Amino acid sequence: MSEDGYQFDTLKIRAGYNPKEHNHAVSVPIYQTAAFDFGSEKRAERLFSYREAGFLYSRIGNPTVDVLEKRVAALDGASGAIAFASGMAAITNTLFNVAEGGGRILTSPFLYGGTVDSFKKLYPKFGIAIDWSDNFSDPEKLEKEIRSDTKAIYVESISNPNTEVADIAALADVAHRHGIPLIVDNTFATPYLVNPIAFGADIVLYSATKNLSGHGNVIAGLVLESGKFNWRSGKFPQFTETYYTLRDAAGKERSFTDVFPEFPFTARLRAVYLNFFGAALSPFSAYLVLLGLETLSERVRKQVANTEKIIEFLKGNEHVSWVKYPPLNGERGKRLAARYLPKGAGSIFSFGLKGGAPRINPFLESLKLFNFHVNVGDAKSLIVNSPKTTHSELTPQEQGRAQLPPETIRVSIGLEDPDDLIADLKQALTTAFAS
Ligand code: PLP
Repeated sequence: MSEDGYQFDTLKIRAGYNPKEHNHAVSVPIYQTAAFDFGSEKRAERLFSYREAGFLYSRIGNPTVDVLEKRVAALDGASGAIAFASGMAAITNTLFNVAEGGGRILTSPFLYGGTVDSFKKLYPKFGIAIDWSDNFSDPEKLEKEIRSDTKAIYVESISNPNTEVADIAALADVAHRHGIPLIVDNTFATPYLVNPIAFGADIVLYSATKNLSGHGNVIAGLVLESGKFNWRSGKFPQFTETYYTLRDAAGKERSFTDVFPEFPFTARLRAVYLNFFGAALSPFSAYLVLLGLETLSERVRKQVANTEKIIEFLKGNEHVSWVKYPPLNGERGKRLAARYLPKGAGSIFSFGLKGGAPRINPFLESLKLFNFHVNVGDAKSLIVNSPKTTHSELTPQEQGRAQLPPETIRVSIGLEDPDDLIADLKQALTTAFAS
């Protein structure tokens, strides 16, 4: 459906789904089946040779999951999309697909802790080196760190947890000058707040566990591609090498760029990575994400309004030493928030509690309304001490480099009444600092 020039709010409810193709069901049906009947031997042959698009087996494609993929592709202006069983699966499968066979990924220390830990523990064992750069705010310097075997630049559009905003257009220019893609984890922002592809990103990732689904009831991931990146340059032979399984009607072997010129990246992710590593999203989980997506804009708008109100309260509180939220992160943060996040800077931020660690436990334990756990982007407000939880995999030195001092508290604001949330924070601060 992006299809007919519809606006975002129409697409989030209708894109990718035609009830006429599904017994006129108004709500997207959950296709709870492992496999799909071929119907005839001839059709089986066409399906297996990619001459007919259709479903074979739910590990590599399912109609409910397909609607989700098409819907998010429409929201992001992507040429192709693929769902995974989690945000981590989306990240790992993507980076292996791009750097397969060895190479380097250039990235920033400002990332989700699980991503950092996987970069440290997993990638080097598979021949993929990770280069951490402190120069993401200075693209000219960053460019000098690209090496001949660098395969991608990887960044979060709004970083977890300290809300650094990536200068997506500048990073895309740098990447493209070297023939490599810019990969953006857009989890915190969602396509409602920023569309990275419109600013030049080549691959966009989501943990759909967060704001996309929005209710803290599903683990899911998505990968989208712009369709504009040149995978034929020779730097990424995995996209141009030919496969027997991609042969044409005459038996000539073809490559992913031959058969899927508009979305070779996600086509290969599906045929190779989803197929063999098998981290497929279940139809029920896809259904939950679709349901959540229907209210994405409305939820995020209210969450942003709540967040701004709560930040105003915290900025004025005597026990709070700093607050990090894009428009508050210095001149650069303000400029990038104005450019990339004109509808609001999201519902996640961090702040420093004066007195540090000794005050943190009494504060967290005194909260009555906020949940204390590691998700974000839920309708329920959540709070966590990131250095000891979401980012506890980082050594003290790495936490320093990621600008995560021990007094950091990360907050994800939900849809409750903001005055109730403020009252809860207020009483917990008073209790924590009573003695
Ligand atoms: N990306 C970001 C920015 C995250 O915050 C997270 C999880 O917190 C992930 C990716 C991983 O997603 P998932 O938990 O769905 O695997």
